[in-house]
Amino acid sequence: MKKLIHSLSREALGAEVADIGQPAYRADQLWRWLYVQHALSWAEMKNLPRDFRDALEERFVIAGGEVIRETGIEGSTQKLLVSLARGENIEEVLLPAQSRRTVCVSSQVGCKIGCVFCASGQAGFFRDLETGEIVIQAVLAARRYGRAPSHIVFMGIGEPLDNYDNVVAAIKILHDPEGLDIGARRITISTSGIVPAIHQLASVGMQFELSVSLHAADDETRTEIMPLNKRYSVREVVDACETYTNTTKRIVTFEYTLIAGVNDSPTHLSDLVNLLRPIHCRVNLIPLSPIDEYEGDRSSPQIGALFLRTLVAAGVNTTLRDSKGRGMDAACGQLRSRARKEESAQDA
Ligand code: SAH
Ligand code: SF4
Repeated sequence: MKKLIHSLSREALGAEVADIGQPAYRADQLWRWLYVQHALSWAEMKNLPRDFRDALEERFVIAGGEVIRETGIEGSTQKLLVSLARGENIEEVLLPAQSRRTVCVSSQVGCKIGCVFCASGQAGFFRDLETGEIVIQAVLAARRYGRAPSHIVFMGIGEPLDNYDNVVAAIKILHDPEGLDIGARRITISTSGIVPAIHQLASVGMQFELSVSLHAADDETRTEIMPLNKRYSVREVVDACETYTNTTKRIVTFEYTLIAGVNDSPTHLSDLVNLLRPIHCRVNLIPLSPIDEYEGDRSSPQIGALFLRTLVAAGVNTTLRDSKGRGMDAACGQLRSRARKEESAQDA
């Protein structure tokens, strides 16, 4: 099977080009085609000699990244269903805002973690994305934006820390200053709380932003909605976050999806305040985006406001996301799940 060209680190690409028998500057030219010009075909790479392009085509695939469905309008939030080089498809979301060109990317096809309120979790796990399949989502965003995205968030389909090696390899490519040049602090990794991987990430020596999906401050409630909590308890997750902050000097953001009657009682709120008050962190409250696979509904705006007020009064830096704006990016996985349902309805 041919390798994906977007999976290669800069060094690996240099070695391949040398192996083909081309001088080193050809590797730089190729890198620029991929990550400055955002080319998606060999034919576009006009200043590369024909025999070099043929040799590349023999070894590598540049495929994938075709948008097969989209929602939203250009210039505001747009959700793209993207076909992958190795088959299957995933979602990515463009979130333009004033000076930011954010792209929310997927890390896996499906997810093993199985959170009850999440369309990706309920659909089950298919496979990890290869490094190049992650990278190409940023390239596709760059083509849409007309320049490199300014921020990358791993909040699409999948659990990024469950595909750790490919995610970190992709980030190193995205980070290259002579390519897409996306700084570590502009890359957010969102995780359901895989404790050993949080420690591993802290040791990489890069200042990634870390977002942790908490959703409940007590083990009983959290286990009910996030089965992973049976393996890593609330305490262990929060401790790992404190280590992350101490090592990287980045403040962790805790995501809390407000679900009516599930995690939004006064007791849940006081548990949350008690857990997070002693810690240097941020909190994002997000009303649930309802999905077909889960009967839960979002908390009322009054409860959202109460959580916000109480946390802020306790000195916890908190924001309450507008559920409309957030609806699209938070509930990543829905476009894919809808497309799959339509496909199977057609097949039936
Ligand atoms: N697997 C990672 C990243 C992808 S999910 C994680 O869980 O953090 C990105 C965010 O969307 C997570 O905080 C997740 O809890 C949240 N999310 C998933 N389904 C949602 C829904 N239906 N409504 C609101 N937020 C949801
Ligand atoms: Fe997986 Fe994140 Fe969805 Fe949980 S919320 S099932 S970890 S994608």
